[in-house]
Amino acid sequence: RKQSSVWTADNIAKSPHRDIEIPNRVITEHIWENMGRWPDKTAVVCGITNRSYTFHELYKYSRNFAAKLRTQMKIRDGDAVCLMMSNSPEYAIGVLGALEAGAAVTTANPIYTPYEVERQIKQADPKVLIGVPDSVPVLKEALRLAKRDIPIIALKNPDSILPEKTISFQELFLADNVDYSVLKDVSRTPEDVALFPYSSGTTGLPKGVELTNRNLVANCVQQDVETMRVYEETTKSNQDVTLGVLPFYHIYGLSVVLLHKLSAGLKVVTLPKFQPNTFVDAMKNYKINLLCAAPPLVLFLGSYPGITEEHLASVKTITCGAAPLPRTDVIRVLEKVKHDMDFLQLYGLTEVSPLATCMPPGSKDYTKAGYGISNTELRVVDQDQRLGELHIRGPQVMKGYRNNPEATKAVITEDGWFKTGDLASLDENGAVTISDRLKELIKVKGYQVPPAELENVLKEHPDIIDAAVLGIPDPRLGEVPKAFVVLKEGGKIQANEVTSFVSERVAEYKRIKDVVFLDALPKNPSGKILKRVLREQY
Ligand code: AMP
Repeated sequence: RKQSSVWTADNIAKSPHRDIEIPNRVITEHIWENMGRWPDKTAVVCGITNRSYTFHELYKYSRNFAAKLRTQMKIRDGDAVCLMMSNSPEYAIGVLGALEAGAAVTTANPIYTPYEVERQIKQADPKVLIGVPDSVPVLKEALRLAKRDIPIIALKNPDSILPEKTISFQELFLADNVDYSVLKDVSRTPEDVALFPYSSGTTGLPKGVELTNRNLVANCVQQDVETMRVYEETTKSNQDVTLGVLPFYHIYGLSVVLLHKLSAGLKVVTLPKFQPNTFVDAMKNYKINLLCAAPPLVLFLGSYPGITEEHLASVKTITCGAAPLPRTDVIRVLEKVKHDMDFLQLYGLTEVSPLATCMPPGSKDYTKAGYGISNTELRVVDQDQRLGELHIRGPQVMKGYRNNPEATKAVITEDGWFKTGDLASLDENGAVTISDRLKELIKVKGYQVPPAELENVLKEHPDIIDAAVLGIPDPRLGEVPKAFVVLKEGGKIQANEVTSFVSERVAEYKRIKDVVFLDALPKNPSGKILKRVLREQY
């Protein structure tokens, strides 16, 4: 299908898709709204254990959990609840239940170290933590470091015992004789913050990205528009199946894969982490129709001999976003499939809930990130009319960074444009190509690695007086962090000690791969590190 955006006189590309009305409701209502059409279909299922919940069960257990959060945990409207779980069917109950209880949900990567969780706890100020048994020791240590004492709820494995001083998640949501009347006191509006995942945005440390119910409902209905729909509508006799392998702590997994697909009645098969054998089995056993991917998964699909047409036979569409996508990786995947399959690039950011652009079904251009989705306007500014920083305006643009009006003001203009920090071009039809990142953010496997975070960790070492971190290209991971450090007088630390000092404090994908010792970092007169100079010299 040929598409073309509508250009306005001031070089704004308006979405080629029709504008849609955004229902005036909260995200859970939006998901439950359609559910009457498919209550007994499976909503979420674990791709390893086959443990599953129907839409009706998801509704019931989310409400049970919500009522327990209100009565037993004393959660009140607007309180924060932090989820640090690997993907599972119960992730949906955790998020939807907390929302039904009037809470705002913040998500943490289940592989974070206690230091990373400590920082998020201090900033987000959650009243309850929800984890899995494996994450409980980290959560406890993070609470100790943050000097907080709040309840930890954990999903019990059938074959393990619940860690000490934790509350069983199952006991809360499977409880009978629940008093639903407490939910009548919950007051939620479309303008209230529903989720606040963390993103460093253009610069600095991770910040809570406040996404309202309206932002999330908008991003759901924007994906429903016929001309860009990447799944078949759910009917009595048909239900498309998608794979939840991208982590739900990140907005792509949570909003695009989980919340939107539940709102559309798809079955979401969850995998707790990416492992070749479980991934391959789930693709085949569950006959996945829609695969939402990031570039490393595309590389895997194309290069892993264990993936054949047999595993991809049911796949009608693969979407890919979160980081730059090499075209050759796409071609390798397409060479394996013998049936008609769409491969469509997407682009977005945590700050836009996250979807901003996508290629239309049928497209064969794998280098472009697509057209603005419904109700979305795009423009590129500063460099020249067609190449520059990409700005996005639409109902999915976040409310702002939590408790950080300055950072918010730096990225959202008075007339509502969100400045992405990405260098992009728009072709004559308004399709976007992302050419580079203007911002300092590093992405490893599509995951955020904020340089400022690693620089702070480095400067905590007693021998290090100054540090800068850059992302350098890596064929497998996209980018990897490289550190430039200046030692204090008499400092003796070696490169391997620098890397292990950092490795103990950050999640694995943030680890520093290379260290360069310098006498001083190049800086401008006001003391700002000149990263461009570093990049050019090294
Ligand atoms: P996050 O907030 O973690 O989703 O990161 C958003 C950033 O990921 C964007 O600002 C881009 O730099 C990058 N990104 C997302 N999608 C794409 C894409 N299709 N191509 C290149 N970079 C992308």
